[in-house]
Order: sequence, then structure tokens, then C-alpha cells
Amino acid sequence: MDKLRYSRVLFKLSGEALAGPAEYGVDPATITGFCEEIAKTVEKGLQLSLVIGGGNIFRGVSSSAAGMERSSADYMGMLATVMNALAVQDALEKQGLQTRVLSAISMREVCEPYIRRRAVRHLEKGRVVICAAGTGNPYFTTDTAAALRAMELKCEAIIKGTKVDGVYDKDPMKHKDAVKFDRLTYMDVLERQLRVMDSTAISLAMDNNMPIVVFNMFTRGNLDRVVMGEEVGTTVEGGK
Ligand code: UDP
Repeated sequence: MDKLRYSRVLFKLSGEALAGPAEYGVDPATITGFCEEIAKTVEKGLQLSLVIGGGNIFRGVSSSAAGMERSSADYMGMLATVMNALAVQDALEKQGLQTRVLSAISMREVCEPYIRRRAVRHLEKGRVVICAAGTGNPYFTTDTAAALRAMELKCEAIIKGTKVDGVYDKDPMKHKDAVKFDRLTYMDVLERQLRVMDSTAISLAMDNNMPIVVFNMFTRGNLDRVVMGEEVGTTVEGGK
């Protein structure tokens, strides 16, 4: 069997991706498709930790703009990520994978609390670790949670599944002449304000030399290509 490029990765799946063709909510067919892709890589021996977003259900920043207290809105956002995590857990288990949801906000009737050592142990045993509730703190995003968990769990890369083929100089959904980058440095992303991950997440990744691979999750086989080391999407690393 071909060798995996990474032995352990942090996969950031945005809430938006889980909504599939719809704008809001959870699309079961889309989630099943993702989980089939994930199962293929885990069966090859990849240790996988997932950080799930919540933007398909609730985004704190939009509600706080509409007058709601920011922290309360952010907690609602974090709770939304737990709902998504349970949906993904269910779909992964239907693929025959062993999984655990670990939440940064304790919810002991629903899932385990996030305890770093426990998460590492689950990974070593081949279980997919689904990190829910972001960092557990308002004013952060699940992108930042992804960078943080990647470091804590000693992952070799953050891989970010999106709706487009990588990082472009402008939104490829709106501009036909948008140009895709194959490689970028963290500074390129920060200076040009490219929409890879938010600046807190990028800074954290930069300070700890954590590579980020952004790729299209809707193209079948892409996740497998990334973990097998094919050049897919856009890689952000180096250049500090
Ligand atoms: N959130 C938060 N702290 C965190 C992670 C998330 O407050 O550490 C809240 C925040 O309100 C955010 C929402 O949860 O808008 C959903 O997460 P995010 O927007 O990152 O999800 P995605 O864009 O990946 O779907």
C-alpha cells in the first residue's frame, strides 16, 4: 500500500460545508459523502482529528451585530458546533469508524469533555476525535480552535476542506478572472488578507510552523490525495 504523507492531521470542516447545497442547516447526503471520504483515509491508518464549525446554524458575530451581547451569541455559536459534531459522529459511525466527540464546553450527557491526553489516546487507538465547541471561549472562531488543537494534539498539518479549489486572489464564485495560488506563506495570507482562515488562526499556525492545506472537499478523492501527499489545493507554510 502507498505510504501516507501524514500520520496525524487536523481536519477543519466548516459548518457551511455541512449545509451542502442549502444555505443553512445540515444536509445528510453531503455529510455522508464527506464521511465516506474520511473513512477511506482512516482505513489507511491516518490518525484524524476533526474540528467542526457552526456557521451553518449560528454565527455569533452576525447576531452581535444585530444587537445581541457578543459573548452570549458566541456561546450559541459554540453550541451549534456541538450539534454538527453529533451529526458527523453519527455519519462516521455508519461508515464503521470508531469516534469520540470531545467538547470544549462540558456536556457530560452528550459527549466527553476535551482533555488533551484523552484526545491523544483516542487518536492512538485509531478513533476519530471530533473536537466540538471551538476553543470554549467567545471572541474566537473554529479556525482558531483548529490551529490550537492541531498544535496540542501534535498534528503534522491542518487540512481545511472548502467549497472551492484552494486560495484565490479574489472570490472565485464572484470573479471569473480569480487566480488560484498553489503555495503561499503565512505572511502573504496576512498581508493580502486572503480568506484562508482568520488572522488569529494564521498567526498561531505561523508561530508554530504548522502547515495548512486548503482544498475542495466536494471533489471526490481530494481528501485522500491530500493525505497521500499529492499537490492539491493551496499549501500555506514557511516564509517567516
Ligand atoms: N465560536 C466561539 N469560540 C470558538 C469557536 C466558535 O465563540 O472558539 C462561535 C462564534 O460565534 C462562531 C460560531 O461559534 O461564529 C461558529 O463557528 P465558526 O464561525 O468558526 O464556524 P464555521 O465558519 O467554520 O462554520
